[in-house]
Amino acid sequence: MSIKDNLINIKASLPSIVKLIAVSKTYPASTVNEAYLAGQRVFGENKVQEMCEKYEQLPKDIEWHLIGHLQSNKVKYIAPFVYMIHSVDSLKLLQEINKQAQKNNRIIKCLLQIYIAQEDTKFGLSRDECLNILNSEEFKSLVNIEVVGFMGMASNTDNREQIKKEFHSLKNFFTEIKAQKSELKFTEISMGMSSDYPIAIEEGSTMIRVGSLIFGQRNYH
Ligand SMILES: *Cc1c(COP(=O)(O)O)cnc(C)c1O
Repeated sequence: MSIKDNLINIKASLPSIVKLIAVSKTYPASTVNEAYLAGQRVFGENKVQEMCEKYEQLPKDIEWHLIGHLQSNKVKYIAPFVYMIHSVDSLKLLQEINKQAQKNNRIIKCLLQIYIAQEDTKFGLSRDECLNILNSEEFKSLVNIEVVGFMGMASNTDNREQIKKEFHSLKNFFTEIKAQKSELKFTEISMGMSSDYPIAIEEGSTMIRVGSLIFGQRNYH
C-alpha cells in the first residue's frame, strides 16, 4: 500500500470534524512530500530541530503541529511558523510561547497535555495542575496564545477497555472545563494514534495523530 492509499483509507473512516495529523517524525522530507502530493497538509513532529528542517525543505502551506515535549529555550525556533503546540505542560512554557508569539506578531494555538495513562512514563499535567494554570492571573494576561483544548495519550496496552476509559476521562474533563471557562475557545481534543484512534474517535476526539499507519514502521537508530 502506498502512502496515498493509506491516507485515503484512514480519511474514509473519519467523521468530518476529526482532523488527521500525519505524524512525520523520523521520516525524511522526501517521504513527507509524498503525503503532501497526495493532498495532506497537516503534519506533526515531536522534535524542534527536525520540524525546523522539514519546514525549510517543504512547501509553506503545510500546517505544522508540535506534538512532543517542548523545552522553553527551543520555543523561539518554531514560533515564526508553528500552527499548534499540543504538548504544553507548564505555565512557564506557556509564558515563553506567549513571549515568542508576541515577537513574531502572532497568536499561537496551544493544547494542554493532560496525564491520563496509568503508566508514569508519559509527560503531562494532572487535572489539579491544569486548573491551577487556567485559574492563575498570569495565564489571563497571556494574549498571544490561545489554549483551545487538551491533548492526551492513553496507556500503551492491548486492553481496549482501559484505553477507552482513559480517553473517556479526558473528554469528561474537557467538557467540565469548557462549561466552567466560557471565556476560552475550547474546541479541540487531541487523542488517538495508529493503534487506538478508532477508540479515541468513539470517545470524542477532534484530532488524531497518526504516523506509522500512514508512513510504515519507523526505524529508530
Ligand atoms: C509518534 C507519536 C504519535 C504517532 O504514533 P503512531 O503510533 O506512529 O501513530 C502520536 N502522538 C505522539 C505524541 C507521538 O510522539
